[in-house]
Amino acid sequence: MASAENVPTPEKPTKAHAAPPAERTARPPVDASALEHRNLRGGEFWREIPAFANVSEEEFLDYKWQMKNSLYGEDKLLELMDGLAPKAFVDDVLRGFHLAPMAVRVTPYLFSLIDWNDPLHDPIRTQFIPVASRLTMDHPMLTLDSLHEQADAPVAGLTHRYHDKALFLPLDTCPVYCRFCTRSYAIGVDTDVVEKVSLKVSPKRWEEAFAYIESRPELEDIVISGGDAYNLAFKHIEAIGMRLLAIPHIRRIRFATKGLAVMPMKILSDERWLDAVTRVAEHGRKVHKQVCIHTHFNNPNEITEISRRATNTLFERGITVRNQTVLQRGVNDSQETMRLLVKRLGEVNVEAYYVYQHDMVQGVEDLRTSLQTNLDIEKFVRGSTAGFNTPTFVVDAPGGGGKREAHSYEHYDRETGVSVYSAPSVKPGQLFTYFDPLHSLSDAARADWKDADKREQMVQDALLAARNHQGQR
Ligand code: SF4
Repeated sequence: MASAENVPTPEKPTKAHAAPPAERTARPPVDASALEHRNLRGGEFWREIPAFANVSEEEFLDYKWQMKNSLYGEDKLLELMDGLAPKAFVDDVLRGFHLAPMAVRVTPYLFSLIDWNDPLHDPIRTQFIPVASRLTMDHPMLTLDSLHEQADAPVAGLTHRYHDKALFLPLDTCPVYCRFCTRSYAIGVDTDVVEKVSLKVSPKRWEEAFAYIESRPELEDIVISGGDAYNLAFKHIEAIGMRLLAIPHIRRIRFATKGLAVMPMKILSDERWLDAVTRVAEHGRKVHKQVCIHTHFNNPNEITEISRRATNTLFERGITVRNQTVLQRGVNDSQETMRLLVKRLGEVNVEAYYVYQHDMVQGVEDLRTSLQTNLDIEKFVRGSTAGFNTPTFVVDAPGGGGKREAHSYEHYDRETGVSVYSAPSVKPGQLFTYFDPLHSLSDAARADWKDADKREQMVQDALLAARNHQGQR
């Protein structure tokens, strides 16, 4: 090691002269009509759906109408698809219904945004309406609760994993059900393939969660999720928000809702709910605590002129909205689509916060991508817009390691598809493995995953390589 005496003293630098460049270049001007992120879908697009052809704007923008007319169950599906999709497609969906871990629930708004000329490849259909023909074989390492939320929950519906943050699940319903839901172990009604853990609305259970939060002075940040905070009654929004803000050590709360992406008209027509959120946010400002909304847009087609009206309303009320996207095959796994999504979020004043690698949940393997896809898209997107509007691409480490920046793996074997992460501030000393989906691997690697001994060997090899990598630092 160099001692202070033998560190060389720098020579006095010669004076640098700043000179103007020999030639100045300007970026070529852009045709404003080519700025696709500003072109949001408007007009009465829902009238293109035969079942909604006579629905007025007033009705369509009423959240109660949206809820009442949501697609929920086979009969409604058949009614809405009548005259829209070929019989073979409808049959494919009906078979998909019985194989899905999540119940199906889709708002008329979302249903109208699907391209019914090509529903099989539509990114919105892909996320919400299962079709049997697209399902692929599960990776053998998948589980229902891949993030171990229940194991890290001291009280039912309260996951305390990070030092200063907890996830509070006050209910188990949502305005729509997403095929890819990481909480398919609990959210929505039972399906043919999953019997759910119950997290019903229960002020008694909530009080147990609040008591735990009060007893833990290190907790500063509470995510109120679910289910979906959109489905909480306005009086519950206010009661939960004010209760948490009254706990001295709580500094930040966030209401997590996918609502803005799937039913933005609630912000425009449910005054009591919006006013309740606003009152909590205003009270938060008075006591110098942050109250935000975290939402969940996944594809640029989900951002319309109606979304813009809703996000503008929240912006006018001083409520920050951040977005968390899930990377999904056929939805947003192209570089251009993700860039357009990020730019469009900025256009409607939503901060692009995270892009998650799809969790390793069972039954929706067709939606997962390799980690490499994530890394490539991140490289492409970074630099497209301001850094504060650029999402961080993360892997939520399976087994409860928490969110890890996708590039921060200790080891990634692209042949076997095994990546290994560590989480020194969450679970020191532990390693966490993520597995690329089988459909992204070579035939040889796919065959190896079918063999229990080889499977174990691939995991052990990856963990050893990760430990060696750590030892070299
Ligand atoms: S809205 Fe959220 S909690 Fe509800 S189904 Fe979708 S991903 Fe799951």
